[in-house]
Amino acid sequence: MINKTVDLRSDTVTQPTSAMRAVMAAAPVGDDVFGDDPSVNALQEKIAAMLGFEAALFVPTGTQSNLCAILGHCQRGDEYLVGQQAHCYRWEGGGAAVLGSVQPQPLNHQTDGTFALADIEAAIKPDDAHFARTRLLALENTLGGKLLPFEYVQQATGFAKDKGLGRHLDGARLFNAAVAQAAQTGGNAQAEARRIAQCFDSVSVCFSKGLGAPIGSALCGSRDFIARAHRIRKMAGGGMRQAGILAAAASHALDHHIERLAQDHALARRLAGGLAGIAGLQVEVPQTNLLFVDLNGDAKPRSSALLAHLQQRGIMATGLYRLRFATHLDVDEAGVERAIAAVREFFHA
Ligand SMILES: *Cc1c(COP(=O)(O)O)cnc(C)c1O
Repeated sequence: MINKTVDLRSDTVTQPTSAMRAVMAAAPVGDDVFGDDPSVNALQEKIAAMLGFEAALFVPTGTQSNLCAILGHCQRGDEYLVGQQAHCYRWEGGGAAVLGSVQPQPLNHQTDGTFALADIEAAIKPDDAHFARTRLLALENTLGGKLLPFEYVQQATGFAKDKGLGRHLDGARLFNAAVAQAAQTGGNAQAEARRIAQCFDSVSVCFSKGLGAPIGSALCGSRDFIARAHRIRKMAGGGMRQAGILAAAASHALDHHIERLAQDHALARRLAGGLAGIAGLQVEVPQTNLLFVDLNGDAKPRSSALLAHLQQRGIMATGLYRLRFATHLDVDEAGVERAIAAVREFFHA
């Protein structure tokens, strides 16, 4: 029997389940540029209500969602405070600056992914012709798989509000954060997602990551804010027509794929446990579905050879020296055990 590939490169690689495909095939659709697509409208209402916002906008990607958000909050010559490691600073082609003339002001992260409040305060510019106008604080949760402590989220966003800044959450993996937070508080994941989201003026969530939909994100906010974002989405080429086929998949994911994220988190912990103790590997304890493993000392130059060895055995991961393994809907326990065995085989561990 040929073993199927265990693709741990990203949680974006999932295939739609057969139940999801059935819902997509049956979805009522219309032209969403005319506002006529019932499945898109239903999804937007569902995610807005779930996270406690007036309105939401379905967009093709998380990158476009963050762009619509930043340009919805900021004008030309404004700036947003954002993490050095944040997706909407580092990984989106500089879109806010290129397309919106909005300058990022990156902040360093503490080891837990947070910002020191003093660093936020120091980065806010006085109203002076020398400076860009500081308008927005953008956080990301989870950040590199880390759950931001909820007390910090409250403090940082409360502080930003007091200073008159807008607050945006890149919650591409908000539901992973919510499931991890629910495990700490004993609460339920949807309630935790809403609690996190309510600290912000706008929230972007990805359906195409751990939730397992093929395509799509949603941006949530006030009715006025979403009206501005809608104009920007059109300008960016994100006005889609019979998008209900995609929205139906996202809606199905919200109904069926939130609680199960706990399984992805458990498998990431199992993978970490299985790799712990191998000489040359420094294995982070994963808080959600992303596991990072650093190669040190003699193991470091063997990074590419390790990835090639894994690939030969049908195991895929990303990174160099710092490897990333993402668990998701299409990874099971047997796949994780194969990954552990293949790494151990490489190191004769
Ligand atoms: C994936 C991701 C995005 C962007 O999503 P795309 O759909 O790939 O554009 C934004 N923010 C974070 C944190 C992400 O992980």
